[in-house]
Amino acid sequence: MKRAIFPGSFDPLTLGHYDIITRGITLFDEIIIAIGVNADKKYMFSLEQRTDFITKAFKEEPKVLVHTYEGLTVDFCRKMNASFILRGLRNPGDFEFEKAIAHTNRKLSEIETVFLLTSSGKSYISSSIVRDVIRNGGDYTGLVPDTVRIP
Ligand code: ADP
Repeated sequence: MKRAIFPGSFDPLTLGHYDIITRGITLFDEIIIAIGVNADKKYMFSLEQRTDFITKAFKEEPKVLVHTYEGLTVDFCRKMNASFILRGLRNPGDFEFEKAIAHTNRKLSEIETVFLLTSSGKSYISSSIVRDVIRNGGDYTGLVPDTVRIP
């Protein structure tokens, strides 16, 4: 069973994440979307909201599961018996950042990181831009799956 973890904050889930996950489904038997919990970080959406957005977006996809975790991603991979970490790459900034993390994870474990290049039309989307649009009352609905809605 080829199982991958897709870790992130997902504050909130965007069409960029959605694209990487749906393309990842063709490569892996199972993808666990792992919402990282960091007590020092301030989030716009609660853990429950973030989980709910993702669970609803993938409710028709049995290969996608949603979990939350604290601590090192490689420890969570071991716990879940996952040999792969899936990450998306948008730009050179992502590459430099991800390279250091992937090398560190390789130093700490045997877990292999697999990168998918963002689809061309999605490369500008990030959770932080979505939060900015929301904060300023803009129309965010074209940037996120339709399960991400603010009541
Ligand atoms: P983090 O909390 O690590 O910043 P994010 O929730 O922002 O996590 O993103 C998780 C993963 O999704 C990362 O690998 C990131 O590169 C990828 N990602 C985010 N937005 C996009 C996008 N528009 N296209 C492709 N990958 C993306």
